[in-house]
Amino acid sequence: MTESFLDIPLLIKTAEAAFQHAVAPSSGFRVGAVLQTEDGVLFTGCNIESPVYLGMCAERVALFKALSEGFRRFYALALVCEEGMACPPCGTCRQLLWEFAPSLQVITVDTGKPPQIYKIIDLLPIPFERGERDPFRTKKNSSI
Ligand code: ZN
Repeated sequence: MTESFLDIPLLIKTAEAAFQHAVAPSSGFRVGAVLQTEDGVLFTGCNIESPVYLGMCAERVALFKALSEGFRRFYALALVCEEGMACPPCGTCRQLLWEFAPSLQVITVDTGKPPQIYKIIDLLPIPFERGERDPFRTKKNSSI
């Protein structure tokens, strides 16, 4: 993979389209996400809440959609949030994204400023990991 594979304007535009589908009656804080696989396939997600705050973050929706369709290698994630403010993934999402995509690039958008690009390991410098005791980790380099 190279940096040229990262089409930031396309990722932001796609995340903005997903943002329009957010269901956020509790928080009123809509989020749109797009997850790019290493093959360039895009999966969108938006946050989905019930009226009593049960719900799922946009980036987890995108990740779970991709995983449920058999994709396992991810390259980048872009997020757009209510009022054009930058919002990096929450702690739970950071952990999950790191587990499935330890070299993921995360793009946030703050209106009027250049997009910010982070590596997921920089957003979660000490992830929870069971190391060699974790059967998932020992199988990580094979197909999950
Ligand atoms: Zn989250």
